Amino acid sequence: MPHLTTLDELKQHVTLLASVEESDAPFISCYLNLEDEPDSWRKTLDDRARILRRLLNGNDLADFEEALGKIETWLATDLLSEAKGAALFVRGTFGGAFMLPMQFAAPLPNWFAVYPTPNIYHLVELKDNYHRYVVLLAMPERACILEVNLGAATIRAWVNEPDLRARVGQEWSRPHYQVNQAHRGDRFMQGKIAVLEQLMRSGGHTHLILAGDAGITGRVRNTLPKYLADKLVEIIPAVETDQQADVVMATLASFIAHEEQESRTVAERLIEGLRSQNLAVAGSAATLDALRWGEVDTLVMANDYQPDPGWTCTVCQSIGTETPETSVCPHCGHESVRPLDIREALLRLAGQSECPVEVVEKSDALMSLGGVGCLLRTRLPAQIDTQTATASG
Ligand SMILES: [Zn+2]
Repeated sequence: MPHLTTLDELKQHVTLLASVEESDAPFISCYLNLEDEPDSWRKTLDDRARILRRLLNGNDLADFEEALGKIETWLATDLLSEAKGAALFVRGTFGGAFMLPMQFAAPLPNWFAVYPTPNIYHLVELKDNYHRYVVLLAMPERACILEVNLGAATIRAWVNEPDLRARVGQEWSRPHYQVNQAHRGDRFMQGKIAVLEQLMRSGGHTHLILAGDAGITGRVRNTLPKYLADKLVEIIPAVETDQQADVVMATLASFIAHEEQESRTVAERLIEGLRSQNLAVAGSAATLDALRWGEVDTLVMANDYQPDPGWTCTVCQSIGTETPETSVCPHCGHESVRPLDIREALLRLAGQSECPVEVVEKSDALMSLGGVGCLLRTRLPAQIDTQTATASG
């Protein structure tokens, strides 16, 4: 059954894709934006197919046609109307058959890559920006707890039992409820907050948004235990006549802004770690070494990080961040060096070890440090010996 990909599934898929070994055959990463104009993604697909049919030949071309056929079949049969973004990772039979489709309520760019391994940047960015959170939507006549997972909202609990609705509506909607009713109202409120806390704890949720009637959300805010108050992102006003989808969109905009702020905080921690404690590194080469060394807490990457290609040796698997001048490997001497997408190489290493990645928007400070870096779990040795790091990692 086709369904929207959840955050937990996306995490597993990123780890899986980061671990796909390259073969001689092309691997296709196809991202499609399904927001408004169906023609825009169709054009991306057709344009890329036309160009690649001219560039590829033999088994590569056969593999490409097979992969493209799988993509077209999936788009025709499995795509859900509510999907705003799709990502398909495909390789044909000659290179080792692979097919992993995903669809999301969140948008993705139109982007089509043919490369030896899956290109996962846009998945990592989506995961970081949209993530998931809980919304308590509280109106005078109804209240529910929603989970918004990669942009898709699902109702997890209705918190008004039918027999309580009338009484609760009365209490919640009365602006200055009387003192003798306050106790009962608060007890009711606490019961609902207990449901919320249980849902958030059991689901491992880290972000909460309150939405709805200003009076009620204000009272909920004042009653939140510390565990939930620490996770509160924002309070969004909404009225009874607002469509639930519109309220969810408003919470999403608020969450994305909050996530950007969190990203900037991580970038500041990186800069602080560089300055004082040797607990961070920055720049492509140092980040690559640190990821291979293995003591990385978080990989921090600017969204406009666009490094020059590096190199990798297909015989001994050495990699380097400097742009290759010859095809001869400096380590093993074979003529087996090919260009390497450094951004993808870093994301692969992070993905293989399930290391968190923070994508930072518009950070001049991070860009001036090379656009990428990482926070370390332990203090960096005076100088990383890449050979030792490779051997022990
Ligand atoms: Zn080599």
